[in-house]
Amino acid sequence: MDRAVRGVAAMEDRVSDARTETGLPVAVVAKPRGFCAGVERAIRVVELTLERYGPPVYVRKEIVHNRRVVERLRAAGATFVEELDEVPLGAVAILSAHGSPPEVYEAAEDRGLRLIDATCPLVRKVHVEVRRYAKRGHRIILIGHAGHDEVIGTTGQAPEATILVKNVDDVAGLRIGPDVKGVILTQTTLSQDDTRAIVGELRARFPHLELPPSDDICYATQNRQSAVKEIIPRIDTLLVVGSQNSSNSRRLTEVARARGVAAHLIDGPADIEEAWLKGVRRIGVTSGASAPEDVVQSVLGYLRERGVAAIEEVDAPDEGVTFTLPELTPMTDTESPPG
Ligand code: SF4
Repeated sequence: MDRAVRGVAAMEDRVSDARTETGLPVAVVAKPRGFCAGVERAIRVVELTLERYGPPVYVRKEIVHNRRVVERLRAAGATFVEELDEVPLGAVAILSAHGSPPEVYEAAEDRGLRLIDATCPLVRKVHVEVRRYAKRGHRIILIGHAGHDEVIGTTGQAPEATILVKNVDDVAGLRIGPDVKGVILTQTTLSQDDTRAIVGELRARFPHLELPPSDDICYATQNRQSAVKEIIPRIDTLLVVGSQNSSNSRRLTEVARARGVAAHLIDGPADIEEAWLKGVRRIGVTSGASAPEDVVQSVLGYLRERGVAAIEEVDAPDEGVTFTLPELTPMTDTESPPG
């Protein structure tokens, strides 16, 4: 075992081992899991904005990529739109945690919207890097998933300077002369393993490409992938609580599958298919950075009802990361530009 299990851990482990031997399944719950600091902050921004201004409060795109979170905030009074031209002139509008391209801020200004920005500070850090390197004349080699909201926002910081690389195959088609300055940046929610392979290929072909001063894959993505790797030797199958459009949640299923363990991405217990659990002795459970903990608990409740005899949670310290809230006075009131 890589780490001690929590609380009544040793005894619980002996009990669960005995139960496994008798054929009753056990659930192993990864830690850390669930909400990251950027998601906590973005949800709080919507809640506080609703408290301060009252509905209607408009949110461009899903505030975070999770169906449950969006449903709950919609029930609390938030109105979700795809683009700001759906928002009435002068209304209060919030930008999602994934970040937005500059034209969105321009559209908000044109419509006289009272704009509040919930972009995660770690996404904003990548935006700043893109602008800084582009200003110095670098080409930006951005590793990411085409069409993802974050990638659209990041590419938009310097579209003429940015080349999107999705996988190792894309590297083969790249033409970057040795005299062209370039830097490799990444989406924040990528697989560490895949990204390492792509960066290795890029550096092998273009040794002159620079790397950013710090890793762009965020702490939450890295920690949740490491937590899955840790429980992999102890499980037969993995349930990842998260929505289909959640990049970091999808990566958790890939981490498991790449190591030969079946993995399923679920929004909640209703998505679990009985066949997945057939013959399984040790079921891993985790959740992506935008998935609420109460849904994880309802999944564990479902598993208990279906005969899971013991639940082990890996004992890991809390991440202890929090981000300060953005200015909740809308930008058009304060005339503060997007940072
Ligand atoms: S997953 Fe990372 S980058 Fe995305 S909101 Fe959370 S902390 Fe920010």
